[in-house]
Amino acid sequence: MKKLLTALIFSLFTFIQAYAQVDYFFPGESFDPAIPSPEEFLGYPIGDWHTRYDLIVKYYEKLDAVSDLAQLQTIGYTHEHRPKIILTIASASNMANLEAIRQKQLQLADPSKPKPDVSSMPSIIHQGYGVHGNEPSSAEAAMLTAYWLLASQSDLAKNLRENAVVHFDPTVNPDGRDRHSLWANSNKGFPPVADPLDREHNEAWPGGRTNHYWFDLNRDWLPLAHPESQVKIAWYHQWYPNVTTDFHEMGTNSTYFFEPTKPYGSENPVVPRKNYDDINPRFAKYFAKYMDEIGSLYWTKEVFDNSYPGYGSTYPDIHGGLGLVFETASSRGHLQASQRGDISFAFTIRNHVVNSLATMEAALDNREYMHNYLREFFESAVSEGSKDPAKNYVFGDPYDASRNQLFIQFLRDHRIKVYENSNDLTVGGQSFKKGKSWVVPTDQPQYRMVRTMFEYVKEFADSVFYDASAWTMAASYGIPFASAPGAKAGTEVLNSSMPSYEFPEGNAYAYLIDWSDYFAPKMLHDLQQAGVHVELINRDFSSQTQDGKIDFARGTLMIPMGFQKLKKEDVQKHLKELAAENSQKVYKVTTGLNVSGIDLGSNLVGAVQEPKVIMIVGPGISSYEAGEIWHLMDTKVGMPITKVNSDMFNRVNLFDYNTLIMPSGSYSSLSESSVSHIKDWVNRGGTIISMKSASLWLNQKEITKESLVELEKKAEPKELPFETRRDFEGAKAVGGSIYMARLDLTHPIAYGYRNETIPVYRNTNLFIQPSKDKYLTPIRYTANPYLGGYISKDNLEKLKQSASVLISPTGGGRVIHFFDSPNFRGAWFGTNKLFLNAIFFGNQMD
Ligand SMILES: [Zn+2]
Repeated sequence: MKKLLTALIFSLFTFIQAYAQVDYFFPGESFDPAIPSPEEFLGYPIGDWHTRYDLIVKYYEKLDAVSDLAQLQTIGYTHEHRPKIILTIASASNMANLEAIRQKQLQLADPSKPKPDVSSMPSIIHQGYGVHGNEPSSAEAAMLTAYWLLASQSDLAKNLRENAVVHFDPTVNPDGRDRHSLWANSNKGFPPVADPLDREHNEAWPGGRTNHYWFDLNRDWLPLAHPESQVKIAWYHQWYPNVTTDFHEMGTNSTYFFEPTKPYGSENPVVPRKNYDDINPRFAKYFAKYMDEIGSLYWTKEVFDNSYPGYGSTYPDIHGGLGLVFETASSRGHLQASQRGDISFAFTIRNHVVNSLATMEAALDNREYMHNYLREFFESAVSEGSKDPAKNYVFGDPYDASRNQLFIQFLRDHRIKVYENSNDLTVGGQSFKKGKSWVVPTDQPQYRMVRTMFEYVKEFADSVFYDASAWTMAASYGIPFASAPGAKAGTEVLNSSMPSYEFPEGNAYAYLIDWSDYFAPKMLHDLQQAGVHVELINRDFSSQTQDGKIDFARGTLMIPMGFQKLKKEDVQKHLKELAAENSQKVYKVTTGLNVSGIDLGSNLVGAVQEPKVIMIVGPGISSYEAGEIWHLMDTKVGMPITKVNSDMFNRVNLFDYNTLIMPSGSYSSLSESSVSHIKDWVNRGGTIISMKSASLWLNQKEITKESLVELEKKAEPKELPFETRRDFEGAKAVGGSIYMARLDLTHPIAYGYRNETIPVYRNTNLFIQPSKDKYLTPIRYTANPYLGGYISKDNLEKLKQSASVLISPTGGGRVIHFFDSPNFRGAWFGTNKLFLNAIFFGNQMD
């Protein structure tokens, strides 16, 4: 009896609590009791804890199990093997016709097919939450919104279930989410501590914003470097949603931001004006109405960049839908003091809940309007594309079959039509051969994405950028490309296919592998791991091979069969297997006497050292740049590198390694004894790879002695209005733009490259003079280096005189400085090899 009474009291208590919570988020609404609220399911009110991702998934599984109107799908897995899920909610009849609804939406987005009758088509809404793992209110808001949509008895919810199909991507970045949630929960105080200085509000480096490899996934909708975005984009193209949301958090003292973003200043150049001038204001009225009702403050238009196509709120704008970014003040933790009093986690969640509802109401009221816009968008894309004077883009690197295929796959992932090139062409001094080049016509529904891939953006209404102002993907892949109106498109290429080659059987004196292919470094690493001895040939030469006489370039690898520890058959077995795995062509030679150039036993041929790499990471160091390096080595080379925290560096014996990577950042935490250890090690033959600002520290510690470029100071106005400060100072930054650099093809940093020029990506305003040693600035900017993106006139002048890569000899070792971003966002396939050359051939560079 007593037990029963306790149970009764307990359930009454939970009922009241649940009621209270529902009342806070959804005042006055009644819900279907068969659907458990998040609180009923989790056992705590939303806002009390940062819900663990496995519990988030379990809640959606529950919704799927209890209701025919909810359907859960796993569309992929994160790096840390968390499932990527989508929950779809719609009426029973829409659920029964889901595939037909999807097909009709695709038909609407395809101008080559008759336009369907949009009057009966449901609105397709894609609600996305939590791309930044430490902006946690969004994923909690997603659970409440899904619950509301499924269980609310309100007219709006009923209407939405009948006339919309709503997809929830309830946690875009599960790995980052859990990293942050664990931090916030494990540092929570009882009672909560609102003091911003408390540990709960200040995560450990690198924080939960990013994914497993410390990448910002809200930049990855374009590069698609990660599984989270790959599956998301594949999903996107299965549905072409009319409206897509993207929920974030900003500073604790801020209020709430919703679109429109800053007019003209921060908009994408290929998006039709109608999106910004008409659709955004239509939707904004709804957000304002909902926020006014709860008395929450907000702002629009002032900042927030909407130009870079890799944002979650911009990609949909380039696909006939409306992308919407929302930002709430953050409690970062469960309760944090702000200028307006303590901000609770529940408060931030409610802000996102009401805007989730407002979005759905706006989408519903504009259902036919948005369908018609989707159609117009793709019809106008085709008609504008057919008039574009570029007409066709042709691309192809004759020496790098793998990178061509990676780029083709990338274009196909964005649903861009690619065709074989049926004629040999020469455009502006570049030649594109049939069989080794491809054609992308501008006359196609994805015309605006074609521009995104091949055009340089050069005109800007504003000069302050939140992020990158250049994103020409053909340049980041480093693939020769040109507009070729006369090109003839052959067969359409639907999928990439990595090259495969026949392995030359029989006896060999040595094997040769060209270094131009993107996966040649992985092949080298795999061979070294297998115990195969590999040498590097430092001059051009020609040899008689199984394919006759072949001209080889500097940087060719040689596997001499007379100098192997392994048995001959084992070397051949490894070579054959690894060549197939890495799509590498292996040449066989039966003599060391070459047809022309140096012979295989020349003094200019030598063993390739096996890299033993350590990278400094931790507070003060750019986690993005470190993450890009880690990601490159893991996913493109398969080479383990040690990531050592800067506070552990005094325990490192550098003599166990031959390469030290120092990403951009501050190294002031390294002790003086660590500095002397680095000096000693590099003087005795070590190689430091230094990125951007790390070079300033090396200079300061007198490990190197390079000079900054300084132009004569231009007179600046003596006084300016206070309110112009942000614009005036912001215009001096190099936010992210693309330049042409010139390579010394004879230097080992350039091995594998055949063109003297190469586009590079720069996002620093650190300008360094070329080395005083005339041989040691192997990469410098051309006389007219500007390709695309924003840069001030003064900065461009400084850039013209400066170095992109230079080498500082230091006793027996050297520092290799990179002042650009060769691995930027996992997207710069064209410059990755410069960085990998520094890893593999660093000891031969000075
Ligand atoms: Zn964010």
